[in-house]
Amino acid sequence: MTAMRTGRGKVDGRLMQRANRALVLDLVRDQPTLSRAAIARQTRLSPAAVSGIVDHLVREGWVREEGAVVTGTVGRRPLRLAFVPEARLALGIDLDVREISAALVDLGGRPRTVHRVAVPSGADPTVVLALAADLARQAMSEAPAERLLGVGMAVPGMVRWPDGVNLFSPNFGWRDVPIRAKMEELLGVPVLVDNEVRALAQAEHQYGAARQARTVVFVDAGSGVGGAVILDGQLYRGMHGAAGEVGHNTAEPHGPRCGCGNRGCLEVFASLIGLEMRVRDALTAGRVSSLTGRQGALTPKDLACAAAAGDELARELLDHAAEYLGLAVANAVANWDPELVVLSGPVIREGGLFDSVLAASRPAVLEVARARVRVTSAEIAENVKIIGAASLVITEHLAASL
Ligand SMILES: [Zn+2]
Repeated sequence: MTAMRTGRGKVDGRLMQRANRALVLDLVRDQPTLSRAAIARQTRLSPAAVSGIVDHLVREGWVREEGAVVTGTVGRRPLRLAFVPEARLALGIDLDVREISAALVDLGGRPRTVHRVAVPSGADPTVVLALAADLARQAMSEAPAERLLGVGMAVPGMVRWPDGVNLFSPNFGWRDVPIRAKMEELLGVPVLVDNEVRALAQAEHQYGAARQARTVVFVDAGSGVGGAVILDGQLYRGMHGAAGEVGHNTAEPHGPRCGCGNRGCLEVFASLIGLEMRVRDALTAGRVSSLTGRQGALTPKDLACAAAAGDELARELLDHAAEYLGLAVANAVANWDPELVVLSGPVIREGGLFDSVLAASRPAVLEVARARVRVTSAEIAENVKIIGAASLVITEHLAASL
């Protein structure tokens, strides 16, 4: 009994020490001009305890002391503490159907050099993950191993947490791929794997449009349509990694077949891949459009330009996409009761759909929520999934490394 109590006491003591270090580090990160005395006041830790923690954080490179100034009248002004974002790094990998990209990201969410490689279409998981591992090694060689917290990956489709098994990825055509286990075997470092829109949500929650927000719904329309939910400040993943998957909400029960096997999912009407198919179907059915001959490599901008130039098919498809995305926003508001909805992805951004999605959502949003829920655009313009993948690692592993 005594031994157990002693054992538990040691563990509790270490956890408490880490928790206090994390508390102090968070304060220094959020308020860049704090002194040791100010931290003691805010945390109610004793000045001696704060000094011990700050000494440790300075020694380990997390925090720098700045601004030692001696003045004649008020004596020695207290040192300010500054957070050092480069103290640790996490590697973020964005595994997209067409391209893999990877970069080291610092604790402030800033990526270093972004490395990229194209994915051969139809390649099997072994080939794709070997490419990702090669890219990861290139990026990781840019920093000393002891500063690396770990590797995070953003992957399309249903990803189970925390074992990182890709249960189903309609766009890759994968089922039950143990991505985390395979990448850890290839790289020999801890790897975390999550759905790509959850990675985006994590990045926006830490560094972008959803900072400070507690309950947020994300809707992203790109190659596919995805979603994510933050509940009480934490990503909510569900039992199988599919919570918030708005892309497979049914929009039309008898609509065209979706990559997931069901019919008429939102993704069929509002993803880039879906829009390309709708253009192809319309042209095959004899519709006249300026998009003839371009349906293989359409961008949302092409559609927006064609619509602006009076192309009826492009206008119709974009209006349809906006209407269904708007309904998905309204449904998500009814389901999750968020304070904020963040819209992202090239179909919304480059397709110029933000205002029309908002307008389509409003009549369908519960009246009580209409004036209270804010809808906004994502803020991080570039490499958001790399930053998000790295930020998963930072969120999960930072406290343990303090
Ligand atoms: Zn579907």
